Amino acid sequence: MEPVVLPAGLQVFERGWLSSNNVLIKGRERCALIDSGYCTHAPQTLALVQANLQGRSLDVLLNTHLHSDHCGGNATLQAVYPALQTLIPPGHAHFVRDWDPVALTYVPTGQSCPQFHFEGTLEPGTEIRLGDALWQIHAAPGHDTHSVILFEPLSRLLVSADALWERGFGVVFPELDGEGAFDEVANTLDIIEALQPLTVIPGHGAPFTGVAQALAVARARLDGFVQSPEKHMQYASKVLLKFKLLEVQQLELQVLVAWAQSTPYFASTFARHFAAVPLAQAVEQLVRDLVRSGAATVQGSVVCNV
Ligand SMILES: [Zn+2]
Repeated sequence: MEPVVLPAGLQVFERGWLSSNNVLIKGRERCALIDSGYCTHAPQTLALVQANLQGRSLDVLLNTHLHSDHCGGNATLQAVYPALQTLIPPGHAHFVRDWDPVALTYVPTGQSCPQFHFEGTLEPGTEIRLGDALWQIHAAPGHDTHSVILFEPLSRLLVSADALWERGFGVVFPELDGEGAFDEVANTLDIIEALQPLTVIPGHGAPFTGVAQALAVARARLDGFVQSPEKHMQYASKVLLKFKLLEVQQLELQVLVAWAQSTPYFASTFARHFAAVPLAQAVEQLVRDLVRSGAATVQGSVVCNV
């Protein structure tokens, strides 16, 4: 597999799963940041940006999509850099303009995101100069209906957000709303393949080459979900639960159950797909699954992140 070589002036802050990765691109004149992490990590995001900019200003902030783990640092960055130009996918624009935390998924996922503003949109089919290179903007629906991905054709570098990871892709959120989106995931994987990226900077995890293999893994995973949509629902439930644990680190099982009951994606998913099992029991089962896979521990009545 080819080694990962990133262009000069571009840095990836690999952040884990609560916060998405951030990509800092420094040009001769302007500096840009792609995605800003989760709100509880905002001070860390700011510190990483400031340490790397060494006194230069941050001029442009782009969000691939507006899930809480990709734009939770926006408000903090906007406060520190008043001239910052924030660009978001056009499909989200009116939800941000009128600040609709339901449509922006913060309420249905039981997650947080401080309100921010935007100055422009990232129109698919157009190009944008980031650093000293021109990047293509492509629509990438599936994981999120309005997500975009960014491609720099000279170095064949793709910022794939949650449309493609080294081993899979993000939860297909429209499916939790009852809107079929597995076809869109497949189409987006085809679009990525057609771009022929050499290197991918995913929304989570390390940058990677070996894109053909990643696409094969993603397609196999998608096939599994298409064959058994309940597997996707199980996966989505586990991801939401794990995200909550990452956010708060530990909480009483009863509090976790109450959170699940008041979190619409959780409650509606269970009502639709696992109606035979009471929600509290289902949460306990999911916690056991997380413990078995090493993603959580239980101490007495407290569920811990690890
Ligand atoms: Zn996402």
